[in-house]
Amino acid sequence: MHPKEKPDVNKVKFGSVFTDHMFKMNYTVNKGWHDPKIIPYQPVTLDPAAMIFHYGQTVFEGLKAYRTEDDQILLFRPDQNFQRLNRSSERLSIPHVDEEEVLYYLKQLIALEKEWVPKGEGTSLYIRPFIIATENNLSVHPSACYTFMIILSPVAAYYPEGINPVRIYVEENFTRAVKGGTGTAKTAGNYSAAYNAQNEATKQGFSQVLWLDGVEKKYIEEVGSMNVFFKINGEIVTPALNGSILEGITRKSMIELLKSWDMPVVEKRLSMDELLEAYNQGLLEEAFGTGTAAVISPIGELIWRDQKMKINGGETGNVSKRLYDTLTGIQTGKKADSFNWTIQVNSLDETTSN
Ligand SMILES: *Cc1c(COP(=O)(O)O)cnc(C)c1O
Repeated sequence: MHPKEKPDVNKVKFGSVFTDHMFKMNYTVNKGWHDPKIIPYQPVTLDPAAMIFHYGQTVFEGLKAYRTEDDQILLFRPDQNFQRLNRSSERLSIPHVDEEEVLYYLKQLIALEKEWVPKGEGTSLYIRPFIIATENNLSVHPSACYTFMIILSPVAAYYPEGINPVRIYVEENFTRAVKGGTGTAKTAGNYSAAYNAQNEATKQGFSQVLWLDGVEKKYIEEVGSMNVFFKINGEIVTPALNGSILEGITRKSMIELLKSWDMPVVEKRLSMDELLEAYNQGLLEEAFGTGTAAVISPIGELIWRDQKMKINGGETGNVSKRLYDTLTGIQTGKKADSFNWTIQVNSLDETTSN
């Protein structure tokens, strides 16, 4: 096999270039998960009746590997991603994977693809684990067989020109998720169902939408596919996990960081009315989204009905900046990791590759 030429990571579009190898294992009712292997990156052949095509039984994860200045490779809280993969699977009636086993294979795969972890400020190797239902059957029931795969994609800095606040509007028609639905799971349908709103936002010159609860359209949930935080009168507020919000690992890490700094941080239900009132009183100090891709995406302008809120003069706030610098510093080994969040990927264990 000929390794692919490694591209200039700063010229590739997010998620469009993949490394030379992938991980794959299969599940059947009789054998459970079996036959784990690292193989050359290749297409998957499926029967047209494979259940993934019809009923969308699938889950995914997203995390990153970072190259440190002294050429170590670090993963950020990968245990959390595999725990969440299993929680998503639970919701989609997909069998659990062994978290330690898949982490072991992820480390093997990354060790093998070490050269693909880019060098350079803000760059990383994006990791996409996912599971698809592979039984060939059109009747509506959970599949009897599945394939789990991990693919890797080198990605450029999210903010080549430094972090930039974005314009957001509050979505009042479309709903992302409701309690009891699939909003807490990373599953395909949640994302395709959000495309209409995203398209409309793009058309109107906004970068994303802010999602409200699907029942009363009153309470703030997420922004695009990120969790959302506000600094209101010195206190950091993020919507409490309510059965429709996706539990972000960046969100969780931000809360832990803020607590370690003795900054007041609360998870609670927050309505648009309360947010607007805070804004009108001059108490809305910062707003930002959090997620693996961007870490932090500051909100410079928020539009709700005919109200336009300009936040922190459209500039990145101090807390947003400090959180961004600290988290990216830990992820890339520039700052001490006092939480033990990162895991170092060692060289290949020759006994188990291939
Ligand atoms: C993945 C995701 C997030 C962020 O999760 P991280 O673990 O921080 O990357 C937030 N909201 C939605 C809907 C997501 O899919």
